[in-house]
Amino acid sequence: RGAIAFKDVHFAYDPARPILKGISFEVPAGKTVAVVGPSGAGKSTLSRLLYRFYDVQQGAITIDGQDVRDVKQQSLRAVIGMVPQDTVLFNDTIAYNIRYGRISATQAEIEAAADIAQIGEFIESLPEGYGAMVGERGLKLSGGEKQRVAIARTVLKSPPILILDEATSALDTRTEQEIQAALDIVSQNRTTLVIAHRLSTVIHADEIIVLKDGGIAERGTHGELIERG
Ligand code: ADP
Ligand code: ADP
Repeated sequence: RGAIAFKDVHFAYDPARPILKGISFEVPAGKTVAVVGPSGAGKSTLSRLLYRFYDVQQGAITIDGQDVRDVKQQSLRAVIGMVPQDTVLFNDTIAYNIRYGRISATQAEIEAAADIAQIGEFIESLPEGYGAMVGERGLKLSGGEKQRVAIARTVLKSPPILILDEATSALDTRTEQEIQAALDIVSQNRTTLVIAHRLSTVIHADEIIVLKDGGIAERGTHGELIERG
């Protein structure tokens, strides 16, 4: 379950400047589709429409055939997990921040999720700033570490659908590879929409959509796109 379809999706923040001018593609259940394209092409907008931060202005987005506009926000959030570019942490321990993915989770489940995201060693720490408020030094988390918290949260939540807004371009190569490995584990057997900044990070996607000037300029597997230049 969790098949996504974008059907002739139109969207503009400003009516004078359409961002998406009739986008159609599908993410079959359990598959991974990556969206690439120049900055400002509307990649993140697609994910915001799926999550219903905004609604499409023409066309439709469906999950298992149901229009997302007919799904309660709460239900939508239960089936979609999002690993955003910038993770905002709550004023509590890393473990609590992970547990937010599924409040009923046991300590053992939290630890297992933290291990997959390779953040296991400091789950009882507080993020920097928050720690200071309660007399502890707190941990200064790098962008990569915050992303691992988001990954652990998503592992715990285990939703059928995942949105990954890749932020790996800002990370050093080793961190990027480690995070990529964790993301690969999380996206296995889940319907995954990847917002990718580089073609090289989505070699294994089942399909890659190239967005340009409001439309789909190209689509295919990584191999097909490379072959066509
Ligand atoms: P991408 O993810 O491909 O870089 P975005 O989907 O973030 O692109 O943005 C597409 C375009 O929409 C950009 O030109 C951006 O400036 C504009 N945009 C994004 N969010 C808003 C917003 N909330 N209000 C107005 N314009 C926006
Ligand atoms: P992203 O995480 O993809 O960068 P943002 O929404 O923060 O998403 O920003 C995407 C682009 O949209 C940025 O260039 C930003 O300046 C622009 N943008 C965001 N909100 C607005 C807005 N309300 N009006 C105009 N442009 C916006």
